[in-house]
Amino acid sequence: MTEPRRSRRLPDGTRSGVPGRVDAGPGLLEAVDPALFPGADARRKVDGGAPSERWRALLDEGSPILADGAMGTMLFLSGLQFGDPPEVWNLTQPDVVRRIHRGYLEAGSRILLTNTFGGNRLRLGLHRLEERVAELNQTAAILLRSEVEAAGGRALVAGDIGPSGAIMAPMGTLDYQEAVDVFAEQAAALVAGGVDLIWIETMSDLTEIRAAIEGVRLVAPGIPLITTMTFDTRGRTMMGVTPEQAVEALAAWGADAIGGNCGNGPDEILPVISRMRAVASDVILVAKSNAGMPELVDMRAVYRASPETMAAAATEMQAAGALIVGACCGSTPDHLRVMHGALVAGRRVLS
Ligand SMILES: [Zn+2]
Repeated sequence: MTEPRRSRRLPDGTRSGVPGRVDAGPGLLEAVDPALFPGADARRKVDGGAPSERWRALLDEGSPILADGAMGTMLFLSGLQFGDPPEVWNLTQPDVVRRIHRGYLEAGSRILLTNTFGGNRLRLGLHRLEERVAELNQTAAILLRSEVEAAGGRALVAGDIGPSGAIMAPMGTLDYQEAVDVFAEQAAALVAGGVDLIWIETMSDLTEIRAAIEGVRLVAPGIPLITTMTFDTRGRTMMGVTPEQAVEALAAWGADAIGGNCGNGPDEILPVISRMRAVASDVILVAKSNAGMPELVDMRAVYRASPETMAAAATEMQAAGALIVGACCGSTPDHLRVMHGALVAGRRVLS
């Protein structure tokens, strides 16, 4: 994700703003419609598998695959002010966005996310930018594609879709069909910009991520899809979803890779990966942890995990079953470079 979620943590360790919901998972599985949530095999029949070609080629290289690190952290270091929409920098500061992507490419990242975490019309609407969804997302994809090509074209461009920013009905106000429409609009712009895959991240609510998957599938039935949720509340998401519920639901809905991102650091994502692996032996798992537990210092989130700590964690995540390993808030290209070295060294030992 791109913004610290500091306001939600209360002194007693609970979270403010959203009532807990503890049973959001398995019941939804009964409603899967194969037309809306096709599995990978069905999708290849739809479009001949063309959008999946680069994805499968990357997988065929063998494990592990390094994703990228934080975008928001790097934008804040480059002068973005808290509260300003990072997606605007795709237009106003494209050189900065490209330089951040370049840093992760040079660190060894093979899957990079566009600067579009909050690029849906609900979040952009907070800044009166709801009319700019297509422009901001398409531009972000083009910027990242340019850097990937300049670096030799070996990395994949992932269109980043974060949460809507609203709470789903009936607990909140966001109607399911409207959510599908919001996510479809963003996905269409990312696809128009030429992304290789879509990465839905930092989700807490299974209903919302289901709407996001359905939105993506409406506009891009065959595109590879990575989905990660944030398990930052005693082993569950903020909305009460367990790793087991998440992996079972997301696999049923046709996600190509599933895992955790953001949260309270590698110590909390490691058991998430283990628990997912225990109930889903053949799913491609993804770990993209924050660089440690966020601490609030001078009204800014600070992350203290060193590159070496994150590198040690990366090898543990890989051992626990994660094929794709990256980092989230607080990480920099320095973290990813050392993580890459550790993963490559581990592969040599294994082979
Ligand atoms: Zn994060």
